[in-house]
Amino acid sequence: MKTEICVKKFGGTSVGSVERITAVADRILSDSMKDKRPQVVVASAMAGETNRLVDLANKTNLGFRGPAYDMLLASGEQVSIALLAMALEKKGLKAKPYLAHQLGIVTDSMYSRARIKEIKTDLILKDLENGIIPVVAGFQGVDEFDNITTLGRGGSDTSAVALAVALKASECEIYTDVPGVFSADPRIVPKAKKIDQLCFEEMVEMASLGSKVLHIRSVEIAAKFQVKLHVRSTFEATEGTWIMNMTESMESPVVTSVTHDANTAIFRLAPLPNGPEVLASLFGKLSDKGIIVDVISQNELDVSSGSQRLAFSVPLEDILPTKEIISKNYPKVDCTVMDDVAKVSIVGVGMRNHPGVAAKFFKVLAENKIPALGNNIRNQSQRDHR
Ligand code: ADP
Ligand code: ASP
Ligand code: MG
Repeated sequence: MKTEICVKKFGGTSVGSVERITAVADRILSDSMKDKRPQVVVASAMAGETNRLVDLANKTNLGFRGPAYDMLLASGEQVSIALLAMALEKKGLKAKPYLAHQLGIVTDSMYSRARIKEIKTDLILKDLENGIIPVVAGFQGVDEFDNITTLGRGGSDTSAVALAVALKASECEIYTDVPGVFSADPRIVPKAKKIDQLCFEEMVEMASLGSKVLHIRSVEIAAKFQVKLHVRSTFEATEGTWIMNMTESMESPVVTSVTHDANTAIFRLAPLPNGPEVLASLFGKLSDKGIIVDVISQNELDVSSGSQRLAFSVPLEDILPTKEIISKNYPKVDCTVMDDVAKVSIVGVGMRNHPGVAAKFFKVLAENKIPALGNNIRNQSQRDHR
């Protein structure tokens, strides 16, 4: 049984200044007058704050990861939820800010990319009964050792959706600085079109391929637990984009969107000894460090010497730990890192049955004289890289 509770998540730009926090409080007030559904609010850190904290960490100890790093990064949300609760009180509403450890948002101990295991809802439910609006810190959790954890950059979306699941809400509203999900990043492609409805599958692909409008885990959780997502503008009272199960009436254009991911670096290694064991061992070491490898391409370099060439991509922030693993384990292998690249992908469920998308894609690259790393980086899957 789903409940009527409405979870609303406000992103960094939406709470980026005292004026914006006040505007968010106004919106929550007007919603509470129009709509009797109880509201639970989740907020990100003020825009730019988490980047500032990452910068401080890098200047202090570049590449360090662990509880101290997560504690530092999570501090941005503490400021915004406290300010938002104060702004709501000023509007005459009752509000209470909560850090993850106060509520019981329990995660594993994979610092910087922790996964939520459980959310305790008793305090929230009690507040709602008493007419109090809980204002929850996004992005953070607490592990079994009582350490503060964080869910990965953009993770407040995941906090909100996980909370919606725990509260048995049927939908979750994600308020952001654009009016919805577009066919490409509207800040880069002014001609991009707003999409009214998207299915979970397409949104998972868009998020995994670099569209940072939603944190990928949030969409995966929403799909698994059937929570509809409504991505909409904080600043305009317009309908945004609904993300839900595929329905009969849903339009499925051949291409739904073009995504890009500039936060990517390519490692090229050669010559590596031949055989899958070498690859299993290398990727095992990367995975032990929590490094997410994206696109992988491997080919035989030289049959007579039995060596292979490997290329794979990782997020920019993982360049340093990846280099360390390679130099420690494969000191004789020639390793090149390319960090001036971007991954561009085409997404659309309608593409499954339509030829010609790859042809058009490469024609556009050719017309715009954009070099493609086609000979070394192969398509991740037939579907998402055409
Ligand atoms: P928030 O701080 O609200 O979580 P984010 O910066 O994480 O906001 O996500 C919103 C941003 O996502 C937009 O400002 C936009 O530049 C970017 N974006 C990238 N791809 C898309 C897309 N396809 N549709 C809408 N926004 C997109
Ligand atoms: N404040 C965090 C970040 O900047 C989480 C989020 O915004 O969702 O990544
Ligand atoms: Mg975000």
